[in-house]
Amino acid sequence: MRPVSYARASDVAEAIATVSANPESAFLAGGTTEIDLLRQDVVQAATLVDINALPLADVEELPGGGLRIGALARMSDVAGSPLVLERFPLVAQALVQGASPQLRNMATIGGNLLQRVRCSYFRDAISPCNKREPGAGCSALEGVNRGHAVLGTSEQCIATHPSDLAVALVALDAAVHTEGPGGERAIAIDDFFLLPGDTPHIEHPLSHGELITAIEIPPLPFARRSLYLKVRDRESYEFALVSVAVAVDVADSVIVDARLALGGVATKPWRARRAERVVIGASVTEDTFARAAAEELAPATPRGMNAFKVELAQRAICRALEMATTMRGAA
Ligand code: FAD
Repeated sequence: MRPVSYARASDVAEAIATVSANPESAFLAGGTTEIDLLRQDVVQAATLVDINALPLADVEELPGGGLRIGALARMSDVAGSPLVLERFPLVAQALVQGASPQLRNMATIGGNLLQRVRCSYFRDAISPCNKREPGAGCSALEGVNRGHAVLGTSEQCIATHPSDLAVALVALDAAVHTEGPGGERAIAIDDFFLLPGDTPHIEHPLSHGELITAIEIPPLPFARRSLYLKVRDRESYEFALVSVAVAVDVADSVIVDARLALGGVATKPWRARRAERVVIGASVTEDTFARAAAEELAPATPRGMNAFKVELAQRAICRALEMATTMRGAA
């Protein structure tokens, strides 16, 4: 047994100062990821700094129609927020299709973005894993890799990014707001999640002690017609094999604008820009959807057991586009 000490921060400055001062400390939000990883000996924080008392749990309107979601807002509260449901339904749908009701009541938005991968070789704390122990090797390359990524992979890591919420936020060009020892900053969400490359142990650009304070979603009127399609092995309480976040603006059966992102198939929440380029300006037809899907998956690198994801992802993209373009008010 390894002792872990516990501290409770009463304001943002105290939380940042306490974690920054100790390299072996970590923030504790809902604890639904952190406590599991401590128990499994995958992470070894010696001190947990509880941030649940910080005033960072509100969902607020921004001028022009955007939203600011506090980092400590619970998944269930954000999924049920009338503002989120009305302006960004894909966010609410991504949240409500994640985890279980009990977990969603505890889990926070900031913690969701920083949840760690579900690769069993990472989580068993024993197998060679470059993410856990740089230079150790990647057991998934030739191992049980049915759930692993086909996009954004490297020879060092093929673990899939597990967050559903992040996929919706990537489609919406959200920004992650932080505060740390060096002050405040906003990070574009696509830059927040790093590809594994040769450094899979570095997953985001945060420095030690840097606190996520909020997520800001900029205005996007056509996101009122958006959805999150999640394909998984069972209907609830399961991570995505493939997911698609989509918002479309359609006029006279032409796709005027579109946002697409994929989950379950890539090492980071995957903005599907290749597919967007195909659909924007094209007619609403099955052929358009199929061309977009094929274009997005063209660079895929399947490894043995996960080859089925290449076709599944294309089918899911077509299905999501069909659903979004036929929603009431889309045409
Ligand atoms: P914590 O566990 O408290 O923290 C997680 C990490 O984030 C820690 O490293 C912590 O130090 C850091 N952290 C937390 N808050 C901040 C902050 N404000 N600033 C800086 N660092 C911070 N997720 C999905 O998206 N889809 C699913 O289908 C899904 N299924 C799940 C099934 C199970 C059985 C479990 C256990 C989890 C599942 N999850 C799923 C993951 C779940 O959503 C996350 O565990 C949760 O969102 C993490 O939030 P938390 O507040 O509990 O974070």
